Amino acid sequence: MLLEGSCHCKAVKFRVDSPSPYPYLICYCTICRKTAGGGGYAINLGALSETLEVEGEENISVYQARMWDHEGADGVEISPGERSFCKLCASALWVYDPRWPDLVHPFASAVDTPLPKPPEYVRMMLNYAAPWGEIPRDTSERHFPEYPDESLEDWHRRHGLYDEP
Ligand SMILES: [Zn+2]
Ligand SMILES: [Zn+2]
Repeated sequence: MLLEGSCHCKAVKFRVDSPSPYPYLICYCTICRKTAGGGGYAINLGALSETLEVEGEENISVYQARMWDHEGADGVEISPGERSFCKLCASALWVYDPRWPDLVHPFASAVDTPLPKPPEYVRMMLNYAAPWGEIPRDTSERHFPEYPDESLEDWHRRHGLYDEP
């Protein structure tokens, strides 16, 4: 699925091919919720990095998170994940991690193309959720204290929703 996205002030626009466009994976990690998640979480999609086209690249800044949460972390360690955001309006755009160079993960919030509604939601990083965060308990949803047990691609394949590139 071709995704078109932008920051709020429109200084940055992008297009990218996404074989995994369902916004089902809700992340409560402190990085997502501080930098991109006013509701206590953020949602990333799976897209192909080599197809990413950007307009207004000069308006992008990149944040590599200081790690505060993992065992023994004291904020000295820096995440390899590169979180791109608009330096004019602060909209979170996507995450790119050089450990998985074929992928880029647009924030659902930055995507303008109407995304398909997922048949189920998965919530992850619940160990780090804010105490006020809305987390439905009476549900068949799958919840994970840390990372989930399947990739974005595997989840889409399990539901027959993977859009082969
Ligand atoms: Zn902007
Ligand atoms: Zn996160």
